Amino acid sequence: MSTADRPPDRVADGAAGSDVLDRWEPVIGIEVHCQLRTESKMFCGCSAAYDGAPPNSHTCPVCLGLPGALPTINRRAVEGVLATGAAIGASTPDATRWDRKNYFYPDLPKGYQISQYELPLAAHGSLTFDTSGGPVTIGVTRAHLEEDTAKLIHETDDDGRRVSLVDFNRSGAPLMEIVTDPDIRSAEQARRYAEELQLLLRAIDVSDADMEHGQMRVEANVSLRRRGTEPFGTRVEVKNMNSFRSVERAIAFEIERQAAAIEAGETLTQDTRGWDDTRGVTYVMRSKEDSHDYRYFPEPDLPPLRVDPAWLGSIRAALPELPAARRARYVEGAGLSSYDAAVIVADPAMSAAFEAIRAAGPDLPPKEVANLVSGDYARAAKATAGRSADGLVGRSAGPELADLVRRVVSGDLSRANAREVLDEHIASGRAVAAIVEERGFRQISDSAELDGIVATVIADHPKAVADYRAGKPTIGFLVGQVMKATGGRANAGLVQSAVRSQLDRLPAEGPGPADR
Ligand code: ADP
Ligand code: MG
Ligand code: ZN
Repeated sequence: MSTADRPPDRVADGAAGSDVLDRWEPVIGIEVHCQLRTESKMFCGCSAAYDGAPPNSHTCPVCLGLPGALPTINRRAVEGVLATGAAIGASTPDATRWDRKNYFYPDLPKGYQISQYELPLAAHGSLTFDTSGGPVTIGVTRAHLEEDTAKLIHETDDDGRRVSLVDFNRSGAPLMEIVTDPDIRSAEQARRYAEELQLLLRAIDVSDADMEHGQMRVEANVSLRRRGTEPFGTRVEVKNMNSFRSVERAIAFEIERQAAAIEAGETLTQDTRGWDDTRGVTYVMRSKEDSHDYRYFPEPDLPPLRVDPAWLGSIRAALPELPAARRARYVEGAGLSSYDAAVIVADPAMSAAFEAIRAAGPDLPPKEVANLVSGDYARAAKATAGRSADGLVGRSAGPELADLVRRVVSGDLSRANAREVLDEHIASGRAVAAIVEERGFRQISDSAELDGIVATVIADHPKAVADYRAGKPTIGFLVGQVMKATGGRANAGLVQSAVRSQLDRLPAEGPGPADR
């Protein structure tokens, strides 16, 4: 085992050690393969809905790669790439063409993949997103369309022999490849880029982009250069990362590994490495084949594709509000913090609820709406998900949730009770007003009434009072007792100040000055 293969002694989860980063600057480019959601495959009429179907049940001469079978272009797939290009501000040529990428592998019976080489459907776009270090913009070199390969399954058969099986269902499924410029500078930025791309692809409805289901496959090219220098170092391509967390961990590992290897005097080679999620290491899969030995040449069976400006224009016009624009609207229009805006926009259910409540209650403070949506609503929605979507962001949920927020804002309903009402509303779909009425939830905000309850609770808990005098933090406990005594109806803010002032006004007790 060479030093290059040996994991560093210590790899921080998600971030390379800062000492390494003081000396080395990571340079990272990401390639994403994303399955476009179309009804049929890229170049034939086979249904693309093969998930869960028996092996080799969605095939025809075209996607099996039989000699003489001729491809035809899937218009919807082209539109998916054009929409993606428009969404990232990329440019699209008036005419593009298809190229054959030649290589031999059992998952590719034709011996070539139909792809796009010199004239991708989209080029020179960018994606902007927030990170812990502030907003970052990453250049997107290109997005092009190609066909997916068959799936190889390696097994041991009944006689104990190692066998490889081929399932052609995936063969010829439409695949979009999106490649970034080498602009990414940290493992966190790489994860955030992938998350933002997934959000965008889902928002424009071109792909489910689920990493666990292989609908979005992320590969990272990672190299290091000494801080303050220009030339890029030797890059390593990392594959097999099946979650956003893996993307961040794998890159963080790779940064540490490369720094350790270079500092040990080794010369890195341009390898392809796999990520082992269990061991938390990357390992050599293959030494990089002399790249671009694919002998690309124009696909003779398909005509060049002309992209009519009117067609592109209508695709651009049909784009929904994009995540970045929505975040900006939440921050600039509604006054949310960029953190709150990012949390809500990252989750379509939360975002839909926020929109629905705002539409039903434009007068409500957006911050209150955001708190409900990202807090209690998100929790309740998650608990309900899978059981039934009823009661969640239906057409009627906006007014109901707005009613709930309005009661909290006006002080009629305590936050603790609001949580219960919400849970019940989501579970049963019953109106907020009816639940409040039935449960007798009316917030106690009357100081005199609260003072009396607080006094009783304090009298009942001498231990907590003694602890308070000893400097221990017991106010929270006493507030909790008051909330319990009132069935959650007390105005928690008022209770808090009443408890504090009553404790401070109590006559001195316990050990006298003589004992100290
Ligand atoms: P290939 O087709 O061999 O994968 P590409 O030119 O398509 O090569 O590049 C793949 C990715 O690698 C792109 O995202 C690019 O930005 C990135 N990249 C290129 N050079 C480097 C480097 N020295 N370090 C890190 N990433 C790089
Ligand atoms: Mg590559
Ligand atoms: Zn087919």
